[in-house]
Amino acid sequence: MREIHLHNTLGNKLEVFTAQQSGCVKMYTCGPTVYDYAHIGNFRTFVFQDILRRFLKLRGYQLDHVMNLTDVDDRIIANAAAAGVSIREYTEKYAQAFFDDCKTLSIEAPEHWIRATDHIAEMVALIERLQQKTFTYPSEGSIYYRIAKFPTYGQLSNIDVAGIQAGARVDNDRYEKESARDFALWKAPKPGEHFWETAIGKGRPGWHIECSAMAMKYLGETLDIHTGGIDLAFPHHENEIAQSEGATGKPFVRYWLHAEHLLVEGEKMSKSLGNFFTLRDLFGKGYKPSTLRFALASVPYRKQLNFTFDGLQSAASSVERLRNFAARLAQGKFPAGRNALLAGRIAEATDEFDAGLADDLNTARALAAVFDLVREVNIAMDKGEFREAEVVPVQEFLAVFDRVFAVMEDNDGEKLRALGFGGDSGPSDAEIEKLIAEREAARKRRDFTTADRVRKELAERGILLEDSRDGSVRWKRK
Ligand SMILES: [Zn+2]
Repeated sequence: MREIHLHNTLGNKLEVFTAQQSGCVKMYTCGPTVYDYAHIGNFRTFVFQDILRRFLKLRGYQLDHVMNLTDVDDRIIANAAAAGVSIREYTEKYAQAFFDDCKTLSIEAPEHWIRATDHIAEMVALIERLQQKTFTYPSEGSIYYRIAKFPTYGQLSNIDVAGIQAGARVDNDRYEKESARDFALWKAPKPGEHFWETAIGKGRPGWHIECSAMAMKYLGETLDIHTGGIDLAFPHHENEIAQSEGATGKPFVRYWLHAEHLLVEGEKMSKSLGNFFTLRDLFGKGYKPSTLRFALASVPYRKQLNFTFDGLQSAASSVERLRNFAARLAQGKFPAGRNALLAGRIAEATDEFDAGLADDLNTARALAAVFDLVREVNIAMDKGEFREAEVVPVQEFLAVFDRVFAVMEDNDGEKLRALGFGGDSGPSDAEIEKLIAEREAARKRRDFTTADRVRKELAERGILLEDSRDGSVRWKRK
């Protein structure tokens, strides 16, 4: 099997991937901060890490993958206090929405879904370890990390820390590159804010210590892979390294993988520009989950993704083409025998699909292999040159594709209904099958009035029927 190459942000180069423990990948993904609905820029990163974990599984690795919910940070504390509710109450709605959104986009659940607020004790213990090694100092009830004590600080994001004044501090969880400073591990409570009573005093954790403590609790002191959006490389991941390696003296992460930004119609997404979208905004406009997943997955993760409505249309037709192709394969009647030329092409496409993904998850290359084969097989079918013996190999190829891309199942309607979209959203699959059977029965007894009425009724409820040449009937939701 060919080697998997991944781009490591640490060192900024492609490296051959190996797991520390043969066959098992220890991976951590910074999850969402649950103070609002996640937007499509966030989901670009989550779809990327899903493609990564699905490809590793396809290659036979077992995943030990942790994803956290940041349910305590500056914004959550402020919003919960303003709303007069507890942190858990405030974040519950957004946490649930995030789980539902992931499911809708066919993002696999990681082996561990964890919340920051369930791991305060681990964070306190890690801060104590850093205190013992004199990486910290107290100030006004808060505890800060002394970056001057960690000489390789800045290595991941390549920021220049030479000009930074020792002892200059920053209190915000999120800050600009220019303000690289000693950062808060533990924050003293402000009046009216929620706090925890702990061995290191009253207060609450900073955002960065959360991920270090949780990652090491579940995955050990050295992880194989850590993923996130590129905007997390500094300060968040830089600080995770400083904290974890300061405490353990061991490398924290072997491969750092970061997904690039997403633009909308060529511009940075922002609420003020009116181009800010959550998944639900787009479902409300009638786009399907499979369309969004395909659009987010189709651009290799290290390229900026320009999200456009034209792009969504073409993603929708790509998924449609694949599903129609699968239906044609399943329902068509082909002459017996083999087509040796095509059998060779199926093997080549399978290999090229793997080569694309092994090339730092080059999804565009992997998809090109799929669509090239689909086109060739369709042409062969049109010419009557496709043979029965190739049906199963092509289906197996599509199944491999779908273990990674997960768009073939025609379940968009169900997923949208589960999220409350589509109102009276049309008949169930079973109801559709029943009506199609009724129509078939009517046609057999040459009762074309009834057959037409059923077809019309289905069309009005958003179901399109397609009679294929071999007499079978396919259907799809509009
Ligand atoms: Zn994190």
